[in-house]
Amino acid sequence: MLVDYHTHPLGHRGGRYTEELLEQYLAAAQEQRIEEVGLSDHDTYCQDIDFQLVAAVARRFPALKVKNGMEFDFRPDREQKIASISGRLPFDYLIGSVHEIGDWMFDHPDYQAVYSQWDINKLYRTYFSLVEDLARSGLFDIVGHFDLIKVFGYRPTGPVLPLAVPALQAIKKAGLTVEVNTRGGYKPCAEIYPAAELLQKCYELDIPVTLGSDAHEAEETGRDLAAARQLLYRIGYRRLSTFSRRQRIMQPL
Ligand code: ZN
Ligand code: FE
Ligand code: FE
Ligand code: ZN
Repeated sequence: MLVDYHTHPLGHRGGRYTEELLEQYLAAAQEQRIEEVGLSDHDTYCQDIDFQLVAAVARRFPALKVKNGMEFDFRPDREQKIASISGRLPFDYLIGSVHEIGDWMFDHPDYQAVYSQWDINKLYRTYFSLVEDLARSGLFDIVGHFDLIKVFGYRPTGPVLPLAVPALQAIKKAGLTVEVNTRGGYKPCAEIYPAAELLQKCYELDIPVTLGSDAHEAEETGRDLAAARQLLYRIGYRRLSTFSRRQRIMQPL
């Protein structure tokens, strides 16, 4: 089956959910033959999510299951804040993502110059140690774009796998799901997150997976997920994580 568990109806614009906006995302999901779509706006907009409107618009799409998620910006100093937001809202699942190292937003094009100040191998180790902290926090269900640090194409001098293994082991231990996020194909790194060799390692470690387009515009919903599903199948996966009220439900891939 196809699911899209990573979508941003509010993008980076913010504002409020409207019927039109939600309809655009759900219609796009249906067109891409998605069976379950999860709305997962950035947690800066947590005050603006209208769960009742989501449920009302979802009723017009009886063939589509609509889930309530959120993408949280993980930093070790935000753990309490994240717990307080997620505790008071009716989420089906939470995505935890590392977007910052200290106060550097390393995935933002405006701050790309900072990469040249780092030893890139050390940068990867620092990034993946934050992903390890994310896993250990116990706050989330899904790890967002696992190897986002590659976004602008800065690569370690040797294989990435040994740098990533401690984070994957922490993910395994915490029982987290890794998403295959197809947005990376449209960034300078020009490949999905995580890279196929890391997904292979996820399979060996028996880490469950799900699918997400990370759409920031309605027409990006479901983008490339059929191909991502095929890749998972070739690696050996036969099941996919879905979520309902923070419970994981495994379904046929
Ligand atoms: Zn975003
Ligand atoms: Fe993100
Ligand atoms: Fe996202
Ligand atoms: Zn994202």
